[in-house]
This record gives sequence, C-alpha cells and structure tokens, in this order.
Amino acid sequence: MFNLILFGPPGAGKGTQAIKIAEKNNWVHVSTGDILRMEVKQETTLGLKVKAVMEAGHLVSDELLIEIMESVFRKHSSAGGFVLDGFPRTLNQAKALDKMLETLRQKVSLVLSLDVNETELVNRLLKRAQEQGRKDDTEDVVRNRLVQYHQHTRPLIDYYKGQKLFKEAFGEGSVDDIFLTLCNVIEGKE
Ligand code: AMP
Repeated sequence: MFNLILFGPPGAGKGTQAIKIAEKNNWVHVSTGDILRMEVKQETTLGLKVKAVMEAGHLVSDELLIEIMESVFRKHSSAGGFVLDGFPRTLNQAKALDKMLETLRQKVSLVLSLDVNETELVNRLLKRAQEQGRKDDTEDVVRNRLVQYHQHTRPLIDYYKGQKLFKEAFGEGSVDDIFLTLCNVIEGKE
C-alpha cells in the first residue's frame, strides 16, 4: 500500500494534482477540506460545528480531523494506496496518522511538497474565490489560511525530513508538467 501525503500551502495545487495521481495509480484520494465542505453543505452536526471555523480560515480541531481520518481508513480498508490532500496539518495530526497506519501495519510512504511562491499563492487563492465562490477565499481569510499554514503545518516539514520521507517539487507551470514531475518523484525517477 502506498501512502502519499501531498503537502504544501493552500493554493499550491494539491487538490488538482491529488485527483490526477489517485486516478493514475488507482489510489483513494482523501481531501479533508472536501469532506468538511460536504458536511457543512449538508448541515450535519459536524458541519454546523466546523462552519464558522472554516469560514474564518482557521484549522478545525485535531480531534475531529483524527475521527474523520479513522473513519476514512475503516471505509477503505482494502485500498491499494492513499493520496492524502490537506491532512495532516499539525504535528498532533501527523503523530495520530502514524499511529493509525501502524495499527494497519502501514507507514507513510512519501511526503511530496508542492513549492509555490507566496505572491503566486495569494493570486491563485483570490482567483479561485471568484471562480468557485468559496467563502474561505476572501483576501483576509486567504492571509489567515497562510498564517495557519506557517504556524501549524510548515513545522511538519522537519518532522518528515527527520524520517527521510520529505521531497519537494516545483509547483509552478502547467498542470500537466507538474503532474509529470510528481509522477517521476513518486516512481523514484527523480
Ligand atoms: P482545504 O480545502 O484543504 O484548504 O481545507 C479547507 C479548510 O478545511 C481549512 O482551511 C480548515 O479550516 C479545514 N481543514 C481541512 N483539513 C484540515 C486539517 N487537516 N486540519 C484542520 N483543519 C482542516
């Protein structure tokens, strides 16, 4: 089982690439952002709990995220691989993920980070706000999401570097070129 964490700040293009990678390898794409947005849309108890937090660009609690991921692993117990997109985002989540995988006798296989400069990130996020009408993509919220990334998520780079699992790829250019680069890294060609 290949367990890929697609890593990077909001706006790096993780979602687009995660879908393509999952499709190519027949792995399960898990976007915690998509899962949470669906809960909000359906106005479930969980959705109502996280709506305001998400709209402010803050992180939802580790506890809820860990519950969500446990149920994802239960649901896809026979998957050949996973592409995790948006999880883990804190050190607590990363450690909980290690434990979850350990109970399945699995490990994180690779943490692949998309490297995009900050100006480009803000531009992409604001453009997406206009196109998709995402409430968490207004300028203030976009800045907040980047602050959250720097404070809570970026430190994971050292955690995974320490385990020699971390690799980086240039995330600017055409979707197809970036995809090719990512596939090469996953297949160990780069
Ligand atoms: P995304 O689509 O991955 O950018 O996620 C959208 C929003 O969902 C984030 O800004 C957070 O509010 C929430 N979210 C998604 N994944 C996580 C996570 N692993 N930990 C905490 N909050 C998350």
